[in-house]
Amino acid sequence: MTYFIQTFGCAANTADSERIATMLRDKGIKPARSVETADYVVINTCMVRESAENRVYGLLHNLQQQKKSVGPQLIRLWRKEQKIILTGCLVGMAVRDGSGKTMKRLRRKFPMVDEFLPIEEVGFDILPLRQDKIQALVPISNGCNNFCTYCVVPFTRGREKSRPYAEITAECLKLKAKGYQQVTLVGQNVNSYGSDIIKGVGGRGLGAINTIKICRKEIKPVMVKSMGKNRIPTLFPYLLEDIAKMGFGRVDFISSNPWDFSPELIRIIAGNPNISREIHLPVQSGDNEILKKMNRFYTREEYLQLVKGLKSKIKSLKLSTDIIVGFPGETKVQFHNTVDLCKKVGFYKAYISEYSDRPMTAAHKLYRDDIAPREKKRRWLVLERLINRQFRNS
Ligand code: SF4
Repeated sequence: MTYFIQTFGCAANTADSERIATMLRDKGIKPARSVETADYVVINTCMVRESAENRVYGLLHNLQQQKKSVGPQLIRLWRKEQKIILTGCLVGMAVRDGSGKTMKRLRRKFPMVDEFLPIEEVGFDILPLRQDKIQALVPISNGCNNFCTYCVVPFTRGREKSRPYAEITAECLKLKAKGYQQVTLVGQNVNSYGSDIIKGVGGRGLGAINTIKICRKEIKPVMVKSMGKNRIPTLFPYLLEDIAKMGFGRVDFISSNPWDFSPELIRIIAGNPNISREIHLPVQSGDNEILKKMNRFYTREEYLQLVKGLKSKIKSLKLSTDIIVGFPGETKVQFHNTVDLCKKVGFYKAYISEYSDRPMTAAHKLYRDDIAPREKKRRWLVLERLINRQFRNS
């Protein structure tokens, strides 16, 4: 028996697919050369943008057509043999919809899918089957509590859940022993790593967080402040430093939200040269009104202040970012504020996306997707030319 995994979306999905591969391998199933020849086809889905979702539908449609093209007799045989398993964001959203309507709709739309696998059933405690022997993705948390109004992740992955500290460090030590040179710590918001662990062991209130015992060490969680207020306690600076001290050539982390970027974290990065100097800091917009409508917990000024702090403490810093153009109601002046912020920061790379209306999100409920596709494209191109020129020419 063989399997083929098709992964759509972000590094978190790639890391999930590596653990699904282990699960299949442990059942004695081997990798297939192609999707057509596999006995098990696993499709790990993404819903962040409509275009990503459409690619999943396209693949499922093609698989269905292939089944049809071999004729009814063979279909029965093939159907019996080739199993299609759907997992990732589409399934995550369906299992979280208590009414069961989303799951019913998925079943109706894709009768050829044999199993809908929620990623929680795979869990974190399986060691991933990695193709790359030099660089490893290491998940540190799953889900998100932030509810940016455009984002579907809290509905597809649920609330933030941190992986146990000792489990992460043990995995990294094993990777080091195996000769891995780079690790990338992955979470929807790595900066808030451990917040749930701290609260679970008695950290009360936001003002007075007690010390907690982690890996036989008593540590005092770092309190993250945003917009002048205490926001959440986090363990991420400790975790990052512990992993950097293991001696990897390079330690990366994604994604790192600006409002949870503490001075302690800057200090740890500055003091450990093997922590990557390429930091991904999603800004999404450079306009305060749009940031507020997006439910991002910072202003343009605070973002620029953070960048200034990072640049002053970390030599050879290179910043990349995510930007959404054409958010509902975004005027040309507001877009220009984003262009202006990008010029001030000097990002070396940006993942620019045109706003895509996503089901269940607050933006879907509150705002009309009113920027014309042509205008979204124009804005996309302005930023693409400004920031990503070197990649376009290469
Ligand atoms: S921080 Fe915002 S954009 Fe990122 S995963 Fe959470 S809700 Fe989505």
